[in-house]
Amino acid sequence: MSTASELSHLFRAMKAPAAAKALPRLAERARTEEWSYERFAQALLSTETSARDAHGGESRIRGARFPARKTLEEFDFTFQRSVKKQVIEHLGQLDFLHAKENVVLLGPPGTGKTHLAIALSIRACLAGQRVLFRTATEWVALLAEAQRQGRLDEELSRLERIPLLVCDEVGYIPFDPQAANLMFMLVSRRYEHASLIVTSNKPFSAWGEIFGDDAVAVAMVDRLVHHAEILSLKGDSYRLKDRDLGPHPARQSAESP
Ligand code: ADP
Ligand code: MG
Repeated sequence: MSTASELSHLFRAMKAPAAAKALPRLAERARTEEWSYERFAQALLSTETSARDAHGGESRIRGARFPARKTLEEFDFTFQRSVKKQVIEHLGQLDFLHAKENVVLLGPPGTGKTHLAIALSIRACLAGQRVLFRTATEWVALLAEAQRQGRLDEELSRLERIPLLVCDEVGYIPFDPQAANLMFMLVSRRYEHASLIVTSNKPFSAWGEIFGDDAVAVAMVDRLVHHAEILSLKGDSYRLKDRDLGPHPARQSAESP
């Protein structure tokens, strides 16, 4: 067997396609630049590990089941002035995740809460962390099903091992007492163990109404915000950005559905 075919067999056996592909180019460079053997080994192996990291990031992004793909780079801080770019960039460094803290995004519809929740989560995926994204309603359905099957505790433990959960759209639909209780359990189980990103179109003062019980709401908010960055987004919906929303009544009624 020639050296080339022996090598391609070895790379396949090691499941290292990126290194196999990079070998001719790296070997050529190593010869011209007279690299040490160690330098060459390092270049070849790190090609493979970065390809694997990038690939792992993609599969974690798919696994998180985001409703859309959004990045921090796409976020227009000149339109959304109520959050500081610096604060979001800092969150994007993921210290909150390593400290097992939460992020809460509050504000009216269209102000970019879900966008920022996804963008931060994608950073986490790319940094090697598992993420799951669901709406509050979906989390409740998932936990209610686990409870029905008598494995709620098991399910909460499984979720606890996932470093970041996103709970989107708290408050869009009010919860019945069972749902409120399940949400409370989710928040409590993660407290100081793993992070949550929560978005809501309602201020905390209205959470009593959402959960149908002031005491449950207070206890939940208390847990949620104890170690958290709270961001209040203000302003118009980004969806209306390029529309002329002048005061002309005829034009306004023509635009409304
Ligand atoms: P919310 O979750 O607060 O209701 P979204 O995050 O879903 O709002 O934003 C609505 C749409 O507008 C999305 O497509 C989002 O990407 C976009 N968007 C919102 N704010 C911004 C912004 N400041 N820069 C860029 N796109 C934005
Ligand atoms: Mg949203």
